[in-house]
Amino acid sequence: MREFQKQFKSQIETKGPFELARRYAYAYMDTIGERNVFPAEQAIEGLRLFREEAFPDKPADPAAILNMLHTAGSPATVAQTGGRYFGFVNGGAVPVAVAAKWLADVWDQNGATYMTSPIASELESVCEGWLSGLFGLPQGTALGLVGGTSTATLCGLAAARNDLLLRMGWDANGKGLFGAPEIRVIVGGQAHASVFKALALIGLGKDRVCVVPADSQGRMIPERLPRLDHSTVLILQAGNVNTGAFDPLEELCSAATQAGAWVHVDGAFGLWAAASRTRAHLVRGLEKADSWSADAHKTLNAPYDCGIVLCRHRNALAAAMQATGAYIPPSSHRDGMQFTPEMSRRARSVELWATLKALGRTGVDALVEGLCQRAQQFARGLQDHGFRILNEVVFNQVLVACETPARTRWTLQALQASGTCWCGGTVWNDEPAMRVSVCSWATSTTDVDCCVQAFVEARAVASGKGGTA
Ligand SMILES: *Cc1c(COP(=O)(O)O)cnc(C)c1O
Repeated sequence: MREFQKQFKSQIETKGPFELARRYAYAYMDTIGERNVFPAEQAIEGLRLFREEAFPDKPADPAAILNMLHTAGSPATVAQTGGRYFGFVNGGAVPVAVAAKWLADVWDQNGATYMTSPIASELESVCEGWLSGLFGLPQGTALGLVGGTSTATLCGLAAARNDLLLRMGWDANGKGLFGAPEIRVIVGGQAHASVFKALALIGLGKDRVCVVPADSQGRMIPERLPRLDHSTVLILQAGNVNTGAFDPLEELCSAATQAGAWVHVDGAFGLWAAASRTRAHLVRGLEKADSWSADAHKTLNAPYDCGIVLCRHRNALAAAMQATGAYIPPSSHRDGMQFTPEMSRRARSVELWATLKALGRTGVDALVEGLCQRAQQFARGLQDHGFRILNEVVFNQVLVACETPARTRWTLQALQASGTCWCGGTVWNDEPAMRVSVCSWATSTTDVDCCVQAFVEARAVASGKGGTA
């Protein structure tokens, strides 16, 4: 046996590295509340340890590896599981789902096919049924598990492209797009960047789309919808990354269905509104669409990375993701790779299943409702302190501004440096704004109060810096 084989075997026997990782993980969990939400400069400076190390000639000791991650790596993490992180739409992580993911990491399954992992395959089927039910989607809806919504949207749009072309007598898989009939693509004025990325990747082009104007909240204006037909893909949005607003799905989906167009809904974080009694009205008509993309790692608080594509036309998704090879045996089981671009993948279904089971239907409802309530609390608290709220807070997003654009920018900078709380910036209706996204189960009402105070203090720091200019 080679030296490293002996060492690895002994690591499995003694569990040394695993025990150490467990200790460091616990230390991280126990100190999450004291950590800077965004790492301090000194912590980032500490990353030179990694940067300056040449690829080692010799094997390293497991304790040295884990220790380096713990002492130099963990201080440079974003403490997004702590409840005071409101950047992007990042979500939290349901603890037992993280634990299930650890367990599945030890299993090291390849989720490509039933043959590579019966358990991953079975749990995908279960999640497919549970999520179709939770979102109220038609029986037989297909699910694919990918890295995130960007890829999920890519899958939905690839299915749309191929299916529309097939109905026009064109085999896109075989012939590609050269000489194919035209596909019209219609998006809203506030479509997410990932939609354009997906369009570019699948050859539909991001600059030839027809853009339907959006209202002041970022919702597509149905009256401005152009003529639709059977060669059209209409891309709608459930949850705008800035305002949290939802396109009026019912009206738009009905128009599209009548015209024979394909509707894809980008519902990265907003699709989960369907699971909440008080918010389901925001996605009414959702079930009329043809395909959907969502992130379990956002609103649902599954660990990263867990994107979901759903498609009512099972065969259309499978046809777009087709792959055959002599070494891939025909299967009567569920092979996850039939519904995704990847073949080999992590068994994401394990943590998705664990998250859904940990919450149950009432738990998902309460989770979504809680995020929305905390967003409202945030908005009220900030307003009481003289901040301006730029959006209708219909879901979990709050757009905040000070009295002048300069003051907003300085306040955001001071807030991000505070370590107490972190949110990102954006530009909304030509005005700089701070974006608060409440998306972790861990955010309590006390956290919100404390973070409102952090905004007030950041604004005071900003004034000191001449932010009144
Ligand atoms: C986050 C987000 C995406 C991209 O999702 P990833 O998981 O980061 O790929 C797409 N659309 C919307 C509306 C989002 O919020």
